[in-house]
Amino acid sequence: VVSHDLLAGTTLRGRASGAVGDEHLRSALRHVTNLLAENRLNAAASLDNWEELRDAARSMRAGIIARLPEVLDRLATNWEGNGGQVFFAADAAEARHYIADLAASRGVRRVVKSKSMATEEIGLNAELEAGGVEVTETDLGEWILQLNEEPPSHIIAPAIHLTRHDVAGIFKEQAGADLPADPQELCEFARVSLRDRFLGAEMGVSGCNTAIAETGSMVLVTNEGNADLTTSLPRIHVVVMGMERVVETWDQLDLLMALLPRAATGQELSVYTTQITGPRRAGEVDGPDELHLVILDNGRSDLIGGEFQEMLNCIRCGACLNVCPVYRQIGGHAYGWCYSGPMGAVLTPLLHHASEAGELSGASTLCGACYDACPVKIPLQDLLLALRRRNAAEAGWQERLAWRAWAEAWSRPATYRASTEAAARAGRVLPAKAFPDAWAAGREIPRARKGPSFRARFARGEI
Ligand code: SF4
Repeated sequence: VVSHDLLAGTTLRGRASGAVGDEHLRSALRHVTNLLAENRLNAAASLDNWEELRDAARSMRAGIIARLPEVLDRLATNWEGNGGQVFFAADAAEARHYIADLAASRGVRRVVKSKSMATEEIGLNAELEAGGVEVTETDLGEWILQLNEEPPSHIIAPAIHLTRHDVAGIFKEQAGADLPADPQELCEFARVSLRDRFLGAEMGVSGCNTAIAETGSMVLVTNEGNADLTTSLPRIHVVVMGMERVVETWDQLDLLMALLPRAATGQELSVYTTQITGPRRAGEVDGPDELHLVILDNGRSDLIGGEFQEMLNCIRCGACLNVCPVYRQIGGHAYGWCYSGPMGAVLTPLLHHASEAGELSGASTLCGACYDACPVKIPLQDLLLALRRRNAAEAGWQERLAWRAWAEAWSRPATYRASTEAAARAGRVLPAKAFPDAWAAGREIPRARKGPSFRARFARGEI
């Protein structure tokens, strides 16, 4: 059973320092994030109304979230009207128990899954495996990670941190022989290996890019075709959807589809855009007999009406990860949960580990590159700052006093000069290990400059 929660017993600093020392990881990250970011820029530049689309999507998402209960009711009514079943899960445990109980009651022994961050969020695989169910990830990247017993490192490119040579090494055990590090051959090996899993599975589990309330439908945006097999071959299909991943109308979906593939991979359209409305009907040859929709709250409804509501506009394109100077150096595992990069640094403390707010909100330079990349204009840097403020408000009185004293001292020229002079003197006489942070060990505090003030020199035209 793969642990998809790396937060327990570790610190962001510890995880990140391991990652920055790993040149193999950083080179793989650089290669793919550069490619994805460049593709997005080219795709955006090919449209002359990219910015208007972003504005429209932001206001459309805000309108939906403001009426979310009503929109979800409409979705559930229409989903059931099509012959499907709906379960509202208040938290991760309710969602995974519903699916595990369903599997047990239907005698399911084998499950195939297409890529779904919501199922990572609820820890579904571990729950099913504990009940004796064999779970197979069928997204190529997810399957590689399952074999390597790792969680995803990126929300759309889960094996971003691995090279083709790494993958050949991981497949070697399955194949029982060496495989060439050739992408074509590695894909073919995965394709053949997974075929029997698709055919033998009684249940398929997928995520949901977007559900459409007006017809009770759902849409999957994929590039591999594994999602189509997952959702059409097994006799039961379970969809796990974060409660915010819904639009009201197909016209609204059009707008999102203009943005999502372009922001994610730079494609005008993904290879497959699969639309599902209801289980298999009489006379149809493919499709499941049962279609279940699990609508996951897990902390999301607490965000409605608050300062973090805009995070619910996220369409999980991954663009903010690819441009983040922190993510690009440390990758997804260092963030400690299934969501990483700027969106993960905001979501993780809000949905999962409130105690991580301080650490994770610090994993940002606040440069705003994530906002520029985000197709729905989520002001991620403002949300990270708000989390820092929340964390500061919860700090002990000693810490708050120390920061206040520092702020006061550095707000006045005289006390600023006095404090830096004192620190410079201390730096010259004390050993490096006397300082609390390794940061100080490699740096010198410059001597405070004697002479006229900056203002006086500026007035004299010297600077
Ligand atoms: S926050 Fe924006 S850029 Fe990041 S994954 Fe969500 S929609 Fe994409």
